[in-house]
Amino acid sequence: FTKKHGSNDYTVYSEELDFKTIYKVAIEKDLKSAIAKKELCLHYQPIVNLKTGTLAAMEALIRWDNPTLGFVPPDNFIPISEESGEIVHIGKWVLETACRQLKDWQDAGHPPFKVCVNISTIQLKHPHFVATVQHILKATGLAPRWLELEVTESILMENTEVVKESLQRLKELGVSMSIDDFGTGYTSLSYLRQFAFDRVKIDRSFIGDIEEDLNGKAITSSIIALAHKLNIGVIAEGIENQDQLGFLEEELCDEGQGYYFSPPKPAAQIDFQTWPKIK
Ligand code: C2E
Ligand code: MG
Ligand code: MG
Ligand code: MG
Repeated sequence: FTKKHGSNDYTVYSEELDFKTIYKVAIEKDLKSAIAKKELCLHYQPIVNLKTGTLAAMEALIRWDNPTLGFVPPDNFIPISEESGEIVHIGKWVLETACRQLKDWQDAGHPPFKVCVNISTIQLKHPHFVATVQHILKATGLAPRWLELEVTESILMENTEVVKESLQRLKELGVSMSIDDFGTGYTSLSYLRQFAFDRVKIDRSFIGDIEEDLNGKAITSSIIALAHKLNIGVIAEGIENQDQLGFLEEELCDEGQGYYFSPPKPAAQIDFQTWPKIK
């Protein structure tokens, strides 16, 4: 890490800009063939019931390994796929793969748990989204109550009829809905009830602040208390240690997820006997 002075700033900045543009163009181009070339896969991270210690759900997280670009993190390529519209195609693949995986786990006789799938606002706004979900559930044979869709707070700013109607129809289908990264946007909890969300996931930045108590404790316990008053479940993301877990248990947080339990892993590497590490 070197500090840059004067005219160097400009040079560095423009080189960085060029690199970013080239990288973005390459991502956009290669992403189009990523599914066909089998470069995408899903990893799964457990969500643990903090009262019973049992496995409540697995969150599906997309991974992309490209021969020239290498491993590209979802935080890099998902926003680009949203801009290009490719997310609709990718998101469908994710949903189908995740639902099929859970059905396989169910058929193998594992105790019941849900699968949580991240859904981009662009996908949810697409007029065929609900029909796609319905079709995938039918094709994979997964019962709707085992599927939970995670959307970010930005969806609530989209106060459109399409979004409201889609959320309503998903609810009627029996699919559950959660708000991801809760607390980072501008949503008030009253919206959650209005849109009938089942759960909120407290953003991991607040969980990270618990230890040093940079307001993390105050924010976390307020979210839990308010959500519970509204009859909404709470999941804490990014639990990395016993201190954080202990605090969340005291505050009666319902479920937790994080490296403390397990990182996301490919389905084939999940050993249900010894993993996830539960309490
Ligand atoms: P997210 O949905 O909030 O997922 C949680 C992220 O936190 C994941 O990063 C996960 O690997 C990471 N994480 C889990 N536990 C811990 C922990 O204890 N400490 C820390 N520091 N991190 C932890 P990942 O897999 O890189 O995904 C990043 C984001 O990309 C996701 O955030 C989600 O917004 C998006 N994403 C991932 N897969 C998909 C997908 O299939 N579709 C869409 N639309 N978005 C996706
Ligand atoms: Mg998520
Ligand atoms: Mg999150
Ligand atoms: Mg996130």
